[in-house]
Amino acid sequence: MAENFETESRKLLGRLRDTMAGEEAGQARLDKITHLIADSIGCEVCSIYLFRDEDTLELCATEGLNPESVHQTRMKLGEGLVGRVAKRRVVINTADAPGSKGFRFMPETGEEIFSSFLGVPVQRLGEALGVLVVQSKDARLFSPDEVYALEVVAMVLAEMTELGAFVGEGAAMSARHSQPTMLRGTVAQEGVAEGHIWLHEPRVVVTNPIADDPHRELERLEEAVEELRVGVDKMLEMAGDGEQRQVLEAYRMFANSKGWMRRMQEDISRGLSAEAAVEKEQSVARARMETVTDSYLRERLSDLDDLSNRMLRILTGQGADTGAEMPVDPILVARNIGPAELLDYGRGLKGIILEAGSVGSHAAIVARALAIPLIVHVGRITTEALNGDQVMVDGEQGIVHLRPDDSVVTAFRDKIAMEAEAQHRYASIRDKRAETKCGNIIELNMNAGLMADLPSLENSGAEGVGLFRTELQFLVRSQMPKRSELSALYGRVLDAAPDKRVIFRTLDIGSDKVLPYMKPNDEPNPALGWRAIRVGLDKPGILRMQLQALIRAAAGRPLTLMFPFVAQYEEYTQARAEVDKALAGEAKLGHVLPASVEVGAMLETPSLGFAPRKFFEDVDFLSIGGNDLKQFFFAADRENERVRRRYDTLNVSFLSFLEQIVERCNDTNTPVSFCGEDAGRPVEALCLTAIGLRSLSMRPASIGPIKSLLRRSNLQDVRKVIMDARHRGDMSVRPAVMDYLRQQN
Ligand code: PEP
Ligand code: MG
Repeated sequence: MAENFETESRKLLGRLRDTMAGEEAGQARLDKITHLIADSIGCEVCSIYLFRDEDTLELCATEGLNPESVHQTRMKLGEGLVGRVAKRRVVINTADAPGSKGFRFMPETGEEIFSSFLGVPVQRLGEALGVLVVQSKDARLFSPDEVYALEVVAMVLAEMTELGAFVGEGAAMSARHSQPTMLRGTVAQEGVAEGHIWLHEPRVVVTNPIADDPHRELERLEEAVEELRVGVDKMLEMAGDGEQRQVLEAYRMFANSKGWMRRMQEDISRGLSAEAAVEKEQSVARARMETVTDSYLRERLSDLDDLSNRMLRILTGQGADTGAEMPVDPILVARNIGPAELLDYGRGLKGIILEAGSVGSHAAIVARALAIPLIVHVGRITTEALNGDQVMVDGEQGIVHLRPDDSVVTAFRDKIAMEAEAQHRYASIRDKRAETKCGNIIELNMNAGLMADLPSLENSGAEGVGLFRTELQFLVRSQMPKRSELSALYGRVLDAAPDKRVIFRTLDIGSDKVLPYMKPNDEPNPALGWRAIRVGLDKPGILRMQLQALIRAAAGRPLTLMFPFVAQYEEYTQARAEVDKALAGEAKLGHVLPASVEVGAMLETPSLGFAPRKFFEDVDFLSIGGNDLKQFFFAADRENERVRRRYDTLNVSFLSFLEQIVERCNDTNTPVSFCGEDAGRPVEALCLTAIGLRSLSMRPASIGPIKSLLRRSNLQDVRKVIMDARHRGDMSVRPAVMDYLRQQN
């Protein structure tokens, strides 16, 4: 019986291929296909619904329903049975369609006389393209074999759609990947850029979804799996312990997985080519990935996705290293990317667009260090964009203009020109001080963490490095760096900043920053968990090694360091004792000690703002880590898109708290700086200085605009605006300050 089905299925696929090869226009092809499918499955109706736009499906061809309704009948995603198949990407198989949940009657189609309904999604690599439906009068459930057959056909339809087989006269379909498209995402690094798409993972195009020699295809599949296994085993031999090994082990598990192989073999026996079979299973996995919430399962599905890509490259001979040349103005597109891979691309990239990713990810940190505009959470970008497509990245609004039309191009270029003009203005004040109209001098430092940041020290006009995030060096490696490597690196950082102060922050790991080669801790709430200085004090091995590396790197020069996430006085004294111990130990070993050592603390938890006066007297300096301080002040996760923006930094409560900290520091003559992201935002920077801060540290690209604004500002006036707003009981001082700025032009 099964054999019969397989023969039937192959016969149908063979006919579909003939229609592909024929001369017909797109619509004629669609019509013919519905006829062939209805005939082969033996039912009265076969219809193809394709997406007209992102959330509207259109009946594009039918055998059996009223022909007048073709290109007339439309439904929203999720509407009716067809809409539900598309939305949930699941098969709906029912003997009683009108009695089914969600059924919507479409009178123009004449479908009321058909009782049974089988709808399968037409999808390709996680992207829904449409729905394929068969219906019949008799009330019967379609058999598993019939469902399977229809799924195989749907796969072929997806490939044909991708190849543009249904484009042309009379058809409602326009060619894919040719229309201007605007996509929205979340800004992870500001800036505007124009360029051409460079896909991190090139799309593999399956040009032959149907094959007539299943034996040959099965052999090809076996050969590809073997090549894959050998490759993975080789990588495993070379891999160290840790996450990379885990991923490879998972790959090996899939490569040896009987279930995965069996499904692909079955797809092939029904007429698909080996590559189409791999892609079919990959599409199913992608669709599941979107609905699965269990993080372990999601990761495994993502491993399977990676593995399928490798298989496709083996089978089609297409890959990262074949053919396409990187454009001169590349805008990188990826589902996600690791920090090390991003560093490999380096500064050559004009912009980065990620389908997944997150604002606080390591890749985002690297993009920031390289000052490359980055937008994350851009749905559909990897399926919409093709290598070489023109694209404009608006990293202010979080918008991607893919294949923009002329009017967008013109408007966007104006925007870029304005930006360039502003940069030119900032360059002219690079060597001037940030002196306000009222005579206050504000120290402007930059944040850094990679060697790639250091050229900015010169270009931006920063007075020094107010925050060097040492964890980045740990995060971009696959193994724990050695002390000698770290000391050489810190030495180079100091070499690149002669006569400038660099504040090294000791390792801030834990929370979202998990070292790839350290056992992850399964904590219920990592942001409030075992992180930063807590790890450093409980397991001092790495902290000691890092302190030694810093002392050796200073080699007689001044050394400034600070500890992250200090929540109480004792943590500071304990950490400082580690510094003293390290200095004594290094002296014993005969190393030259730094000319001077300053030891500060980051104020990132509200508790430290209320520490005893003695703490403020003891500490050499304080640096307010506004990113963390704000998340703990408002109890709103900085990584959670739902709440991240809910509370304004310029909220009067937060500003009052900051002001109290500054007052306490002034009382004890403790130098204090602010190094969270807000320091680099104009209105925020203005308010921070108006409440008394005299030192800010920010990303290098912000120094020009902030300096330019401060030089034109009178902090006393701004302070009065803030006071008045507080007095009135405003929730945030932002509207009042914005009004004031508007009046000032
Ligand atoms: C901060 O919390 O404000 C800070 C500067 O540290 P990070 O962003 O690295 O946590
Ligand atoms: Mg922090």
